[in-house]
Amino acid sequence: MKKHKFIFVVGGVMSGVGKGIACASIGKILQSRGFRINPIKIDPYLNVDAGTMNPKEHGEVFVLSSGLECDQDMGNYERFLDVELLSENYMTNGMVFKTVIDRERSLGYNGKCVEPLFHIVEESLSRIQASVKKSGADITIVEIGGTVGEYQNALFVEAARTMKLRNPNDVIFVLVSYLPIPHMIGEMKTKPTQYAIRTMNSYGVNPDIIIARAERPLDEQRKRKIADFGNIPYQHIISAPDADTIYEVPLNFEKFGLDDIILRLLHQKSKIKSDMIGWRKMVQKAKSASKDVSIAIIGKYFKTGDYVLSDVYISVIESLKHAAYLLDRNPKIEWLDSLDFENQEQSLARLDTFNGVLVPGGFGSRGIEGKIKAIQYVREHAIPYFGLCYGMQLALIEYARHCLGIEDANTTEVNRRTKNAVVDILPEQIEKIAVHDYGASMRLGAYPAVLKKSTIAYDAYSGQKDGRWSVGGKLTEPYTIHERHRHRYEVNPEYIAQFEKGGVIFSGTSPDRVLMEIMELPRNTHPFFIGTQFHPEFTGSLLHPHPLFTAFVEACIARQDM
Ligand code: GLN
Repeated sequence: MKKHKFIFVVGGVMSGVGKGIACASIGKILQSRGFRINPIKIDPYLNVDAGTMNPKEHGEVFVLSSGLECDQDMGNYERFLDVELLSENYMTNGMVFKTVIDRERSLGYNGKCVEPLFHIVEESLSRIQASVKKSGADITIVEIGGTVGEYQNALFVEAARTMKLRNPNDVIFVLVSYLPIPHMIGEMKTKPTQYAIRTMNSYGVNPDIIIARAERPLDEQRKRKIADFGNIPYQHIISAPDADTIYEVPLNFEKFGLDDIILRLLHQKSKIKSDMIGWRKMVQKAKSASKDVSIAIIGKYFKTGDYVLSDVYISVIESLKHAAYLLDRNPKIEWLDSLDFENQEQSLARLDTFNGVLVPGGFGSRGIEGKIKAIQYVREHAIPYFGLCYGMQLALIEYARHCLGIEDANTTEVNRRTKNAVVDILPEQIEKIAVHDYGASMRLGAYPAVLKKSTIAYDAYSGQKDGRWSVGGKLTEPYTIHERHRHRYEVNPEYIAQFEKGGVIFSGTSPDRVLMEIMELPRNTHPFFIGTQFHPEFTGSLLHPHPLFTAFVEACIARQDM
């Protein structure tokens, strides 16, 4: 049987330098050589999944088709590799510890002393193997979250070491490190990377390749220094300066021959010559776009201290980029805090200066009235609008209040006792909340929706001739798509008829027509106004921009020409 190959990727010096993008890019260039890639992300936190975390803590919560709530890097992998990942592609310390402790409680270890440094390591390894088996891939790339030297991820590095010990020819280590250029001295420093290598050595492993992240390219002298110090061939030190777009990173790696280096280290013969034509074309489009398209995102999770945390909406941003690149536009995205509309620090007329407005998903009551005001403004001023999940629910609340005369319309998420709950809790959620069952308990993952003909949604999806978003790839009626969800509330069925009578089109519904999945306004009353109960931002990729994002950006461009 052909031996499976593993690439373990660890970070050095600090987080946030693009380890996930490096993994996705390595995957991409190996995929372009004909190998099937299985990316795994390991997160060192004790949360069993990412679902219970405030996005300010750890960035966006990405949702897989299976419904698993996980790290945003999984989104990068899917967007780069165009694969649908499984729950097995993700693990956290919490997941691993929980399994081991539950097994111990049921006498699964036959009276043995259960210890982190064996049982946790073995459980991590068996999860990796389970993922390999399910994926049918040739090469697995395991990204170990955090930086090397932390207590939190040490057991995973130990698992990687064990794997290498057992399969010396099938495992390599990549260190993604950072080389700072302190402003005061203006010189690139290698010392932190040297320490990171030494820390890796203390775990009994040495990096085979170093991805040297920095603002600027690495020069020969520093490359030599790292190579000599780290006992690594000079050619295996890859300079990875900041790129104009993350999608350029695989092309930069390819330029250095990183694909050949990795394949040689893994004793693999390349099956085909690299085929990155489509990818290169999109990157070219991104870099050469001369016109802008300006979009406001109205949210509330992006301020952290004095900094803006755009990671919280990363899939939304990337989806906007994909669509803009496809349409030869440079996306200019601006963050507007809904609270500023609420307390009138921001004038609503500001919205006129944008080509389109998007309200992404969210939770709770803070900033909600500000979002509703903004939605009312864009509806009344014919500004293209795209609402995602909460962005759809709030659009309906706004419509009910101002077009249907239901002045106190609300969602029970904001006001539990509201008389007119046009958005209400999903029946199956009531019990879960009553017993504080908040882990992985929302309506999660991929569900089908049937589309109504002659609507914005229908036209956008049915324009995808490869049937990419339709269930079973089928393009026949009833045209049924599947998209990923993450919500506890829904359009209250008691108000559907009233909405429809008042001019709202529900262009997507669950097959039994109980759940309203897409709402829109007729094209003769507003140029582009659409909301989805699901999250389309989780299913597009650079090579396959999501059709609804493309339709939205098209409408934004049309507004420019008005
Ligand atoms: N808070 C809303 C709900 O739970 C919307 C969720 C979201 O935007 N992801 O239904």
